[in-house]
Amino acid sequence: MNGMTKLDYEVIVIGAGVGGIYQIKRLADLGIKATVLELAGDLGGTWYWNRYPGARFDSESYTYGYSFSKELLEEWHWKERFSGQPENLRYLNYVADKFDLRKYMQFNVRVEAAHFDEARTLWRLKLSDGRTLTCRFVIMTLGLLSQPTLPRLEGMDTFKGRSFHTYYWPQEPVDLAGKKVAVIGAGATAIQVIGEIADKVGELTVFQRRPNWSAPLNNSPISETEMADIRKRYDEIFAACARSPGGFVHEPDRRGFYEVSPEERRALWDRLYDEPGFGIWLANFREIFMDEAANAELSEYIAERIRRRVKDPKVAEKLIPKDHGFGIQRVPMETHYFEAFNRPNVHLVDLRETPLERVTEKGLRTTEREYEFDVIVYATGFDAITGAFDHIDIRGTGGQTLRDKWRDSCSSFLGMMVHGFPNLLMPAGPQSGSASTNYPRGIETGVNWCTDFLQRVREQGQTRFEATAEAEARWTAHVVGMYSVMLMRKAKGWFTGYNSNVAGHEEGKVRYFVYNGGAPKYVERINQVAANGYEGVQLGVDLAKAS
Ligand code: NAP
Repeated sequence: MNGMTKLDYEVIVIGAGVGGIYQIKRLADLGIKATVLELAGDLGGTWYWNRYPGARFDSESYTYGYSFSKELLEEWHWKERFSGQPENLRYLNYVADKFDLRKYMQFNVRVEAAHFDEARTLWRLKLSDGRTLTCRFVIMTLGLLSQPTLPRLEGMDTFKGRSFHTYYWPQEPVDLAGKKVAVIGAGATAIQVIGEIADKVGELTVFQRRPNWSAPLNNSPISETEMADIRKRYDEIFAACARSPGGFVHEPDRRGFYEVSPEERRALWDRLYDEPGFGIWLANFREIFMDEAANAELSEYIAERIRRRVKDPKVAEKLIPKDHGFGIQRVPMETHYFEAFNRPNVHLVDLRETPLERVTEKGLRTTEREYEFDVIVYATGFDAITGAFDHIDIRGTGGQTLRDKWRDSCSSFLGMMVHGFPNLLMPAGPQSGSASTNYPRGIETGVNWCTDFLQRVREQGQTRFEATAEAEARWTAHVVGMYSVMLMRKAKGWFTGYNSNVAGHEEGKVRYFVYNGGAPKYVERINQVAANGYEGVQLGVDLAKAS
């Protein structure tokens, strides 16, 4: 023995969603020996799992697709402005097949542990199928919303009907015709499901704790002619996404909120409310994110639009949030959501008045009464952003776990590296630009940066890298600092780390895992780090350790 260890792979990527697919493409192009490990039975991540009725993009489809291949952009026809889950999954499969990426992927395998071996400068991954794999570098593309959470209610196993979290909506069609259906939740997912199934089920009862703001998606088909035009404009479209803080085609109205008259503001909102997508949120005045009075005026406008759409004023008031303003967190986009509550077969239960007590054999019991159901749909959200990391036993130098390091909040360098966890990259990690953007735009940025960085490390013959403690502290302070000007810090939602179903997250203490500076600023910062020779990252040669 000469102390050399044969590695199974140079790089292991964890997760075969939008991030993992592009990451393995870049590694394969460089001829790096790599594999992708995926828990699911196939690729697709978010679009593999979330098969609930109504699941679709809130980004314009042609801004969500990958931008890295002109040929792919030429070939793919997005059929709808906001494409639905089945088509989105087809798209990701098409990409994987076109670039022959499937051969690098291993499915139905859960990574249970990832431990850094300091002596040999390698990662050792323990898998659910009993194998242990080693690699020099590990890249985590785990997804921001990939760890669904269920309420902690008594009796959930006793229900005799069918019940599932929306993330695990069955692959085979679920016949809801004539059925009594419960939906628990009022987030983006519930809002999509409710709008889609209201006229297809027997009775629909919505159990809402706190309402969310939402606005019309205004979806429509994309014809051959329009798609041909979009293809010609792709450079322009992606340039617009790169300019906008959120990575979408919607750019803020750069006039000052107070520079224009209330009538002009209203005229803008009248127009944006009826336009497709996030315009009403992101093509709005920038003050709505930071200035209480500006936000309150917009919130009142949206509330009025809701009141016009919901016939019963009492129901309308229940659907209008009173604890936070419009747009301070990601806005769910809806299709006929508010009109659903005008239907005689749709009922709203306000859990703040009558909280859920337990699940029974027949359905759900609140403090008021028992409701009987055939199907219970839990649209109850995710242990967001750090949740998927927490579910792997990740250990860095000195045996410290990432779970412990991130217990109260999180810290990172650029949202892509963590001090104490060498040779680990997260192209779309906590505190990266991806968490608050049009995800694929952020993912491409992150994957490109991480891959270019790895290339540099390899070219220099280095085998170890680690963000310094100082660089991490600086980045984290930068991320935390930006929260102080954003109204978002006041919202209790997954963006700030609140989740009533996860121990330690129920009290709503802000966890700083979103980069609020906007995509252009993020890209500028990470490019600057690269241009300065990756300052903040320590490289080390450990030639004797592994090959
Ligand atoms: P979410 O926004 O966290 O909503 C979860 C909902 O479940 C909330 O209304 C919450 O109420 C409720 N809830 C949770 N636990 C509960 C309990 N024990 N009892 C009663 N109610 C409970 O999750 P999500 O709707 O899945 O959306 C998460 C994110 O995914 C979105 O913000 C968005 O970024 C993304 N998404 C995007 C799309 C799209 O259009 N492309 C669609 C779906 C999701 P409280 O608020 O009172 O806690």
